[in-house]
Amino acid sequence: MQDITGLSFDELKQVLAKWGQPHFHAQQIFSWIYKKGIIEFDKMSDLSKDLRKHLKENFSICDLELEQLQKSLDGTQKFLFRLKDENFIEAVSIPTKKRLTGCISSQVGCKFACSFCASGLLGFKRNLNCSDIINEVLYLKNNSSGRLVTPLETIEQGKRTGVSLTGLTHIVFMGTGEPLDNYDNVLKAVRIINSDYGLNIGARRITISTCGVIPAIKRFSTEALQIELSVSLHSADDKIRCRLMPVNKIYPLKELILACRQYIEKTKRQLTFEYVMLKGINSHLQDAIKLSKILRELKCKVNLIPFNPVKEGQFHPPDKEEALLFKEQLLKSGINVTLRKPRGQDIEAACGQLRLRYAKK
Ligand code: SAH
Repeated sequence: MQDITGLSFDELKQVLAKWGQPHFHAQQIFSWIYKKGIIEFDKMSDLSKDLRKHLKENFSICDLELEQLQKSLDGTQKFLFRLKDENFIEAVSIPTKKRLTGCISSQVGCKFACSFCASGLLGFKRNLNCSDIINEVLYLKNNSSGRLVTPLETIEQGKRTGVSLTGLTHIVFMGTGEPLDNYDNVLKAVRIINSDYGLNIGARRITISTCGVIPAIKRFSTEALQIELSVSLHSADDKIRCRLMPVNKIYPLKELILACRQYIEKTKRQLTFEYVMLKGINSHLQDAIKLSKILRELKCKVNLIPFNPVKEGQFHPPDKEEALLFKEQLLKSGINVTLRKPRGQDIEAACGQLRLRYAKK
């Protein structure tokens, strides 16, 4: 049965029209699902019994089963979901003082096989469709704790204080998979997450992260959306980057940086480079100097992420001092840089780790 969360607002209106129902019901249904956190047709009390029956006969809602939930001492929560086809996907909620970020998967497994990342270890299974992606977001929105309150409390609070009614404040496509390799489904989901009728999360609070699929970056630059783009760089040296990220053999650094430059020029937007720091591989001062050279004069920001250890791998994070020196070097070159605190290490919150552990059992 099709999941209703795979329908855009216009598609739902078309379904209603086909059933001879007024299109304003689309707004009511979206409001129940996306604003009030209700995922049972029977509870949509302003719809006629007849329409509810029709909906139930034709659609499921948020058909996602929680297989396992892990809570980190720092408030990070990791959800492992079972899909209808028995595949597993994971999503993470990360609270900070002012944000609750949902880290969302875009594919079951990953084709790109970065050597330090757990996501590619089991190979690629399939793309997630729009409803799979939306269901991850809805589940996190309705069930994350930490700073988050339950949806109804959020609504009351929203009325009192005028704050956003959604629990999740930010969405990052930094879970398993390569979002730009599942372009249409991810973009359709992003539009629902972003739209007023849907989750109404501002475009600037939604980030798509890519390993550097150049044709998709070009296509993305033509979308009339203000979504943030992050590019996983991880090295300014082709040899090292090929070793870490096989995608570099197809889309090497020089072409990637050129595509990023064109993206920035075309969209007039800043771009973020993710840089996972791996001890003894890409986190020496020399690596920072090389990185500053290739990023010179680009309107960009660098996010340094100390490697989150994966038991299966041979990689380690750098010492704190080395990471700070690296950061200092970029700052000296006039590059906007942040050194991220690792989150959820006690629950193996890095990409693909929980799914991997689960599949091995
Ligand atoms: N395929 C996309 C998005 C998924 S990964 C991409 O490559 O950008 C999101 C980010 O987490 C990427 O920068 C990835 O390199 C990084 N990552 C993967 N495993 C990690 C680990 N164990 N520790 C820290 N970062 C990791």
